[in-house]
Amino acid sequence: MEWIIGIVVLWFIFSFFKPTRCDVCSNRFKRKYYTWKIEGKKQHLCPSCNSKMSNRVSAKKFKDRFG
Ligand SMILES: [Zn+2]
Repeated sequence: MEWIIGIVVLWFIFSFFKPTRCDVCSNRFKRKYYTWKIEGKKQHLCPSCNSKMSNRVSAKKFKDRFG
């Protein structure tokens, strides 16, 4: 029986440390979130902010490369 308690305790610890809100728009995550390293800080982004960020990053890379 002890292993069930162990799993429950582990699950509590995981859900406690799991990010629940987007660091950019502070929307709640439904299921999926993305981890970005922005300005040396770890950020958790929702899917819509993730696509915005990847657009920005690729636009910046294009600019760096082609002016
Ligand atoms: Zn967001």
